[in-house]
Amino acid sequence: MTNNSEWNQRGNRVLMNTYGRLPVTMVRGSGCVLHDAGGREYLDFVAGIAVCNLGHCHPAVSAAIQAQAEKLVHVSNLYHTTPQIELAEQLCANSFADRVFFCNSGAEANEAAIKLARKAGGEDKYEIISLAGSFHGRTLATVAATGQSKFHEGFEPMPAGFVHAPFGDLEGLERLVGPHTCAVLCEPLQGEGGVRPLAPEYLRGIRELCHRHGLLLIFDEVQVGMGRTGSLLAYEQLGVTPDIITLAKGLANGLPMGAMLAGEEVAAAFTPGSHASTFGGNPVAAAAALAVLDTLLAPDFLAEVRDKGAYLVAGLNELVQRYPDRLQEVRGMGLIQGLVLREEFRDQGPAVVQNLFERGLLLNFAGHTALRFIPPLVVSKTEIDRALEMVEEALLR
Ligand SMILES: *Cc1c(COP(=O)(O)O)cnc(C)c1O
Repeated sequence: MTNNSEWNQRGNRVLMNTYGRLPVTMVRGSGCVLHDAGGREYLDFVAGIAVCNLGHCHPAVSAAIQAQAEKLVHVSNLYHTTPQIELAEQLCANSFADRVFFCNSGAEANEAAIKLARKAGGEDKYEIISLAGSFHGRTLATVAATGQSKFHEGFEPMPAGFVHAPFGDLEGLERLVGPHTCAVLCEPLQGEGGVRPLAPEYLRGIRELCHRHGLLLIFDEVQVGMGRTGSLLAYEQLGVTPDIITLAKGLANGLPMGAMLAGEEVAAAFTPGSHASTFGGNPVAAAAALAVLDTLLAPDFLAEVRDKGAYLVAGLNELVQRYPDRLQEVRGMGLIQGLVLREEFRDQGPAVVQNLFERGLLLNFAGHTALRFIPPLVVSKTEIDRALEMVEEALLR
């Protein structure tokens, strides 16, 4: 058997150098635990970046994948398939939406939302306002929508029709509304941008502004949807309903799947030929997502997510109290929490992540601001305790 470092070397030789990978090759996972090729164990508080919300190889999801793989793996969207229909029904029954378009990633879901907003807006309505600090994906249009210039650099010219409003500034946003504006796109909580929630009154202000100017409101819930915040979708807790919502990451617990949801009236702008995806709504991915929804919506599951989220927050707040010289605050919703480092300590963020990796805890550093805690939603309080201990040790080092 080849060991960890041999695999790392082989990977580094043939893969495009697009990721700052830690020196590890993962081979197996179960629940919140990952195993590398050298037999080492890690407590996983990254969960594929909020993807494996039910943990690695959740039995219900693996069984659904296996069963569907023996029935039908793919047909064109020229035909219906049963898992895709059932999944769309479930997503609509559990949200404001009436119709769903399926694709394969978060960026694709946002591309679909951008196209729908432009089509629904009508002639000359193409401009989308997004927020500073946002992250919407890596395709050219979603990079253009992303409000962080580091993602634009080297790829200019950016596709036209995207402007960025200053974060938290409703008047600044309103000043950007012009004759070509068709929508406002935002994450209810910025994940990549450093685990930064948008205040409910700010979101309500954005909603009201959209109504007033006839703009569509698009929520990018690619990271915070699918139970992460303690409700199936984050908007449910915020008293604000968008017109379009995008999902991906946790949707199929690790199989590539994205979705764009909208109400009947907005969705009507798409007609046959408007948009398409070869793999979108693939039966195996859809079967996995159905098992995910079934598990998330079982009685008490989401209440437990909220309970464990509160438990994690309490533990993190104790750390902030003990190390006020290094830690600034805790922010997030449910089981997406950021431990914000003090400005003068932020350069240490990557070293803390590296140190935690050596101790056997996987965490990442979001937006050069916050250690991001996004464990599988099935995490236990004992696992949360262990993670908090390791974080404290890494901070003390
Ligand atoms: C991860 C992410 C995306 C992009 O998703 P991909 O599947 O990587 O294309 C878009 N929006 C948000 C909020 C994300 O967190």
